[in-house]
Amino acid sequence: MRRIAVLGSTGSVGTQTLEIVRQNRDLQVTALAAGSNVELMEKQIREFRPAAAAMWSEEACRELRLRVADTGVRIGCGMEGLLEIAVMEEVEILVTAIVGMIGIRPTIAAIESGKSIALANKETLVAAGHIIMPLAGKCGVSILPVDSEHSAVFQSMNGENRSRISRILLTASGGPFRGRTRRELSTVQVEDALKHPNWAMGRKITIDSATMVNKGLEVMEAAWLFGVGLEKIEVVVHPQSIIHSMVEYADGGVMAQMGVPDMKLPIAYALFYPDRRPLEGKRLDFSQLSSLTFEKPDMEAFPGLRLAFAAARQGGSVPTVYNAANERAVSLFLERKIGFMQIPELIEASMAAHRRVDSPSVEEILQAERETYEFIRQVVN
Ligand code: NDP
Repeated sequence: MRRIAVLGSTGSVGTQTLEIVRQNRDLQVTALAAGSNVELMEKQIREFRPAAAAMWSEEACRELRLRVADTGVRIGCGMEGLLEIAVMEEVEILVTAIVGMIGIRPTIAAIESGKSIALANKETLVAAGHIIMPLAGKCGVSILPVDSEHSAVFQSMNGENRSRISRILLTASGGPFRGRTRRELSTVQVEDALKHPNWAMGRKITIDSATMVNKGLEVMEAAWLFGVGLEKIEVVVHPQSIIHSMVEYADGGVMAQMGVPDMKLPIAYALFYPDRRPLEGKRLDFSQLSSLTFEKPDMEAFPGLRLAFAAARQGGSVPTVYNAANERAVSLFLERKIGFMQIPELIEASMAAHRRVDSPSVEEILQAERETYEFIRQVVN
């Protein structure tokens, strides 16, 4: 039996993780956590009967306690609730499927208590990779990627000598606006940006795909996860999303992982690594696949990607600022308070205004996040 805890269980990755649990009797849910979706959390508690659950908001905790009083499930609240779950003795694998830098502290706590991490929350490595990766090494803990691109890279490294990697090629679908010019992008609306051509995901990450900021965050995540310099990471636009990423080795050989776009595969791979469990769903039909195409990303129309490389090169607290500025800008865009191209503009302005901190502590990361939010509040007002 593998006992897992899912942080962000009501979200896109979280609910797909629970689907994997339904299909595998040897997975047991020990704890669940979410932000405010009490209704779905109640259903999940009744179905999976975890020992503990947590909600972020006080109000949600109170309501959940009343709703599930008959079950005997322990309900925690806020950061304390997340930390309690992260270190529960029974938990073997922590699935971090929360959005945002809120995921950093529970991930650190889980690593310190020896849990394997199935990592979906990319903000954790973007902002705190310099803390997380050495700590995981010291504690002998595995960080297993859930993000489909990183899982593809990870799968393409099976049995290989990592010192022979010459390039990591992260594929990007290009999102709904591939091929558009900067000018055309200045008038796109929220509804257009939410229409991802290949993947069904949460709202924030769907906008991040449209701006290509998502790919930028993935570049930073890959550098930490695989211990590879930025000069060895390339983004390749591949609109069909069939190849989920590739690794090129010193002899020119390229290993790629392919499949129908479905997050359940990388989630299950992280949960059962190194096993591959049967998974229901569509299969690639090569007789129907007419072409696989590849392009260079357009950094002019999608400055979010260019800025990500700049943030990663500067390092320290700058990736945190990149991420925090994007988070706030995406919320403002979803609230229709700013235009689509103002997202990268706000990221760039925030990075320029920030005084870089070298190797920031968790407190300094959260401080940089708060300062960035405040900077954007002032600029937008
Ligand atoms: P969603 O928005 O769909 O879900 C987010 C989850 O986090 C929800 O369960 C939400 O709870 C919970 N949550 C939000 N804030 C808090 C908080 N303060 N405390 C506790 N729980 C909280 O996001 P996704 O599933 O799309 O993405 C999750 C992470 O995985 C992100 O970092 C994303 O970049 C990454 N990722 C996502 C992929 C995807 O296919 N969706 C692919 C690869 C990576 P509630 O519902 O109650 O608000």
